[in-house]
Amino acid sequence: MTAPIRYGTVLILSGPSGAGKSTLTSRALAEFPDLSFSISCTTRALRGGEKDGVDYYFLSKEKFEEHIAKGDFLEYACVHGNFYGTLRSEVARRVEEGRDVILDIDVQGAQKILERAEKDELLARCVETVFIAPPSRAELERRLRGRGTDSEESIAKRLGNAGRELSCWKQYKYLVINDDADKAYENFRGLILALRSSTKRLKEDPFHEQR
Ligand code: 5GP
Repeated sequence: MTAPIRYGTVLILSGPSGAGKSTLTSRALAEFPDLSFSISCTTRALRGGEKDGVDYYFLSKEKFEEHIAKGDFLEYACVHGNFYGTLRSEVARRVEEGRDVILDIDVQGAQKILERAEKDELLARCVETVFIAPPSRAELERRLRGRGTDSEESIAKRLGNAGRELSCWKQYKYLVINDDADKAYENFRGLILALRSSTKRLKEDPFHEQR
């Protein structure tokens, strides 16, 4: 029997800046060819090592507002003083085709998608939420400083927001505590695989020919 035809998972990852969402995502994308990443739009400046159209679509505030006006976003929010948004076009077709999509978005964005899913049956079937947490505040600070890509002001803002973000863990279905990078990745990849076995996303009865 061939694998049953299913919709893809919309895998929402949230957690404080520096918890390790990007590293877990990069490892998963390198391992699973049928997994993809939803490239968000942002009005923040490009950091060293980032590429436009790969890490984000880096947009002016005017261009971002144009997307809002056209209703192009599945969700958008102001995070650490900049706008970030998920384009519908990054998600819809891939999920229809049965491909899993990772969304690295903040707690407000996740909340907005969950609210949308209350009225959208397909989204409700596809959305899964994972909270990625650092093992401690001291470790979070160490990682943010260690990246060497953020200004002191940006680090302070991110640390300031971390407490508020951490208090949202209960709104997520799954929790990965990123203490040891390899162990956290083992948990994460296990979750991706397990979610592929969910009956919730099957497009049709997989046994209709056998009965
Ligand atoms: P960074 O500036 O470190 O890349 O991201 C800052 C925060 O913005 C992270 O918590 C990240 O998850 C969040 N973020 C990235 N893209 C989006 C998006 O499309 N929507 C929302 N709501 N948050 C996002």
